[in-house]
Amino acid sequence: MSLEYNKQAYEYLMVTECGRALSQMHGSAARPLAGAEGNARLSAMTLAKPTFPAPDHDHGRCAADALTHAERVCAQRGQKFTPLRRQVLEALLSSHRPLGAYEIIEELAKVAPRPAPITVYRALEFLMANGLVHRIESRNAFLACAHDHEQTALVAFLICESCGAVGEVPAAPIAESLKSAAAASGFLPKMSVVEITGLCAHCQKAA
Ligand SMILES: [Zn+2]
Ligand SMILES: [Zn+2]
Ligand SMILES: [Zn+2]
Repeated sequence: MSLEYNKQAYEYLMVTECGRALSQMHGSAARPLAGAEGNARLSAMTLAKPTFPAPDHDHGRCAADALTHAERVCAQRGQKFTPLRRQVLEALLSSHRPLGAYEIIEELAKVAPRPAPITVYRALEFLMANGLVHRIESRNAFLACAHDHEQTALVAFLICESCGAVGEVPAAPIAESLKSAAAASGFLPKMSVVEITGLCAHCQKAA
């Protein structure tokens, strides 16, 4: 890895893939937690999560919090957090790096009979539809999300080329300008994805 890594590579991928799961869920996505207590908890959770946790952070805690978040989201929506859905999420929570579907299957096969790919894909679809997992298009991989952002909110993914970790940051203003640029071309956008490759702060220090 070059020490002179000052040029960040920006990859803007606009993907006009079918957003069917997202639009189906749209109606129930905006249901807020009731009362000020809920709001305080939401902002505390958001503030507590750095985009790229330090290499020596307590990841066990990180993963446990994300599972608790997933349980709450499923309970609030009356959705079943089945053992397979949980196992798929746990596999994704083993690190902050996204995993491909077959890597997930390999992880699950370590502790149980190898699941059929279709069941893993269905579990991933469920987790994505409920905002618990994102698809990283440029890596053809999946990332667990424990952030309490609106499911339809556009986030930018920051992909570290050194450690492989992926962080997410809100990208609503970018989404607006991309949408208006698309609209100016007479294009009707369904879904847009922003993925930026580069080096995370920890890897820059280590270089
Ligand atoms: Zn962590
Ligand atoms: Zn997210
Ligand atoms: Zn890194």
